[in-house]
Amino acid sequence: MNKLDTSLVTAALKDAGCVLTDSVKQADAVLINTCSVREHAEQRVISHLGRLKHIRKTRPELIVAVIGCMAQRLGAELLERHNVDLVCGPAQIPQITQLLQDARKTKQKIIAVTEKIRKNPESTALEEFESIHSAADRAVPGQAFVRVMRGCDNFCSYCIVPYVRGPEISRPPNAVIDQIKKLAQTGVKLVTLLGQRVNAYCYVAGEKTCCLADLLEMASRIDAIKWIRFVTSYPSETFFHPILRAMRDLPKVCPYLHIPAQSGADRILKAMNRRYTAAQYLHMLARAREIVPGLEIAGDFIVGFPGETDQDFDATVELVKKARYKNAFIFKYSPRPVTHAERNLADNVPVDVKKQRNIELLAVQERISGALARKFLNKRLTVLVEGLSKKPHLNRSEEPESPQLLGRTEHDWIVVFNGPEELTGSFAEVKITNTTPLTLFGQLLPQG
Ligand code: SAH
Ligand code: SF4
Repeated sequence: MNKLDTSLVTAALKDAGCVLTDSVKQADAVLINTCSVREHAEQRVISHLGRLKHIRKTRPELIVAVIGCMAQRLGAELLERHNVDLVCGPAQIPQITQLLQDARKTKQKIIAVTEKIRKNPESTALEEFESIHSAADRAVPGQAFVRVMRGCDNFCSYCIVPYVRGPEISRPPNAVIDQIKKLAQTGVKLVTLLGQRVNAYCYVAGEKTCCLADLLEMASRIDAIKWIRFVTSYPSETFFHPILRAMRDLPKVCPYLHIPAQSGADRILKAMNRRYTAAQYLHMLARAREIVPGLEIAGDFIVGFPGETDQDFDATVELVKKARYKNAFIFKYSPRPVTHAERNLADNVPVDVKKQRNIELLAVQERISGALARKFLNKRLTVLVEGLSKKPHLNRSEEPESPQLLGRTEHDWIVVFNGPEELTGSFAEVKITNTTPLTLFGQLLPQG
């Protein structure tokens, strides 16, 4: 979501004549797009603001803007305590160009956030902004994110999203499809549909209801779009089967589900306000794998939630072993202001226990990922190339002269191989020669 917002803002500013620079020294303005999901992300922004404060001692004209969830959450505090000039919440992003100009002209501090976030979705301006700018700037060639829902109403007890992003709203299907068509004209082949509970996508117009499965069907009909993904799914029966059938029947819909469990202990799931048990969750995964052969599944977990005992953690380890995820994102519980858990439950799992559980769960998952990766050895896979691999990888089977490229399969497996950089943004055929838990290595095969 944040990457998408960053590219929308970048496109809008470029349209207004701004030029992007890598160096703060050259910049007239610095915008920081922020996330509030964990405290760590916020701390990084605060220390970044501290560094900018120093720079401003010699360059007082530099404008510092904070946009996104932290702007919404902290508002005036950022202006007063952290020397920020402009604070712009997620719903005010469509005004960013004007706000920035005003901040430069007036030299006044500006705050633009939603007063009553649960009541005011401000969706008309957001719709317009999204449709004008979405095709203009993309971080990865050949790929684009498309928001299908805004906000969230799920109120998992630990989560700040409903308080900073407002109520859950499904975007009109026509707006989404028009946007995907525009993206297709600019060379996009993979679209990832975004929503906090994307499987709950539901747009009602008169007698007609459009759910995610319908949207997938409509997007599938756009010729130039070859792959369609959607994240993140919430483990509930809502529209679950139609979506899986769409995945099975529509070749362009990638066999990949990101469906966080968060914990494997029922009493913790209940305290998290996640409305399923570990058994129901595993049952859903089993059904999903029955319906979609070759399906790969990814998950998220929070370790050290208030009251999590060793037994609760063991239940999580058990669930991870049974779920056999392709990969899992594991986070240490971070109390977030105003959430139910922060207000009512003591953050009573010591930091080193949280760390230890994080390491242990990662190790369990790594063994599973390693085993799943090995099944691709000697297989031929189609890969959408993202560009040069940022980290140098060891791949002894390849000659060192050609650059190392990174791409992903339809199941979201990362594949690293040597090949010409011009392949960026297009599909390549790769034979897998080596694997690690997170990366497959391969040799480029002749095209066609
Ligand atoms: N809407 C998505 C996820 C949104 S936040 C979903 O419901 O799955 C992304 C991930 O951050 C969550 O899945 C959760 O694992 C983690 N997360 C959210 N709040 C957190 C908190 N307070 N502490 C630690 N991790 C958290
Ligand atoms: Fe947060 Fe839960 Fe909504 Fe995901 S579904 S954004 S975890 S409240």
